[in-house]
Amino acid sequence: MQFDSIIIGGSYAGLAAGLQLARARRRVLVIDAGRPRNRFAPHSHGFLTQDGTPPAEIAAEARAQLMEYPTVEWQTGLVEAVTGEANNFQVVLVGGRTYKARRIILAAGVTDELPSLPGLAEQWGKHVFHCPYCHGYELGIEGIGVLATSELAMHHGMMLPDWGATTLFLNDAFEPSNEQLTQLEARGTRIECGAVARLAETDKGGVELIMQDSRVFALAGLFVAPRLHLSPLAVQLGCELEESPMGLVVKTDAMQATSIPGVFACGDMARAAGSVTFAVADGAMAGLSTHRTLMFGL
Ligand code: FAD
Ligand code: MG
Repeated sequence: MQFDSIIIGGSYAGLAAGLQLARARRRVLVIDAGRPRNRFAPHSHGFLTQDGTPPAEIAAEARAQLMEYPTVEWQTGLVEAVTGEANNFQVVLVGGRTYKARRIILAAGVTDELPSLPGLAEQWGKHVFHCPYCHGYELGIEGIGVLATSELAMHHGMMLPDWGATTLFLNDAFEPSNEQLTQLEARGTRIECGAVARLAETDKGGVELIMQDSRVFALAGLFVAPRLHLSPLAVQLGCELEESPMGLVVKTDAMQATSIPGVFACGDMARAAGSVTFAVADGAMAGLSTHRTLMFGL
């Protein structure tokens, strides 16, 4: 049997794409490995009607509603390869199971590569974040840190004073110019030179940043810029990629079409600064565009 579309990734973007196709009575298979990017965070913020809801609850309700449609199927697993071309794609899972589809929607998200500071990975999503809009507000106006890994830290250093008293830890990774120092000063950002040794959780609900020279800074939260890693599937399919400050993403047009006919991409795979809201919006567009090409051709 051939599906109208296979959606690779059954999280916010993929579920939103699936919903549009399901409502158009199209045959859809969602394949999902169950590892959404925000699984480390106990609460998700900024998505209308779901502000503060656990991320998995949002996805579970969306999945339950999608699966009410009789033309939708779900397969848990990891896609290993996609071959073929429009109207005749083959999707192979780890383990060998193979499915066929006329269209492919890539909604597989990205993987975060975190700075290699001891103690940091354990706090990802709890006290260490990358998106101030998602997790800045809950930090109150207590101390907020920015850990520099490159010049990108300038962006966090300039933003975060709106969420609380901010210290930028240069960590020998970024040397601001005089102009940048003036800009940071105007925003009230403090600057700490020297190397950071490790991060540790405190029993007061925050973290401590411990410097190489043994100084300790108590923080409500720490912001970092992870490197983004794309699923190899986009490269395998030959989709054109584009640079973003945090890593490569799949290049799409306003309809979420990639450079390969019949392949659409949405969510964090196809935009640099992702969120649940944007994943849902781009996913809905990918679903509509896919349907459009099923009706009218590529
Ligand atoms: P994801 O949600 O990452 O889902 C991708 C899915 O594809 C996963 O289930 C994965 O297992 C699956 N997959 C990947 N490869 C394959 C494959 N080969 N085969 C099958 N399945 C595959 N955003 C907000 O709006 N508010 C927040 O509060 C917020 N907090 C965050 C906290 C943290 C710590 C992080 C890292 C991110 C946060 N985000 C938040 C951003 C949000 O997580 C992403 O923007 C969102 O998850 C993107 O949705 P997506 O559907 O594109 O990808
Ligand atoms: Mg895009």
